Amino acid sequence: MIRGHAGRSSTVSASLARNQLADGAMKTPAIYRRNLLFGGIAAACLNPLTGRAENTPASCTWPPPGWTEKGFPTRRWVKISFINTGERFENLYMEDGKYIMPEVQQFSWVCRDFRRSEWAWLNPLLMDFLFVLHWKYCKDEIKILSGYRSPETNAQIEGAALRSQHIWANALDIHLPDVDNAAVAEDFKKFIYGGVGMYPLKHFTHLDCGPLRNWVG
Ligand SMILES: [Zn+2]
Repeated sequence: MIRGHAGRSSTVSASLARNQLADGAMKTPAIYRRNLLFGGIAAACLNPLTGRAENTPASCTWPPPGWTEKGFPTRRWVKISFINTGERFENLYMEDGKYIMPEVQQFSWVCRDFRRSEWAWLNPLLMDFLFVLHWKYCKDEIKILSGYRSPETNAQIEGAALRSQHIWANALDIHLPDVDNAAVAEDFKKFIYGGVGMYPLKHFTHLDCGPLRNWVG
């Protein structure tokens, strides 16, 4: 089992490198690769999936059997790439039901206002949304188009709401590869209390922790 904050990053990086090498030759379903990647960490809540990692088709069971038995996991991870910089975040951000604040901070930094190199603490509930999406759509990596935006940057973005939740570090614009993102938005409206914006022509979905509302952009 991988333990300890400082040591985890290098271990995960090494594991990632191995996984990337293996990707071309062996198309193991993404979520199951994740399961292997985190080994014992994932096993705590995902045991029912682990044994099928090598021979199960590329689909995930929803809800994951471990969740049905034990409830929403208290160990959670996300894996994202921020398309504007190419930077990635991949790590656990919650253990024993508590947010790991250095990881929330690192996630927030990756999803920063890259135009001004300014960051703000993102609402960690956004990470929980992503964690659910990883599983619900069987996706290994989620692309982030926008996270925190300073008021100055927000004012310069065409079509951005003046009081956008992005300026409160309360919103993400996301893209799930190879999935109808409009369908994701429709689906999301059913299980979050907040804002959901569909941008079907731009292939992304806006999620926020603000008041309940939805729109098509
Ligand atoms: Zn947005």
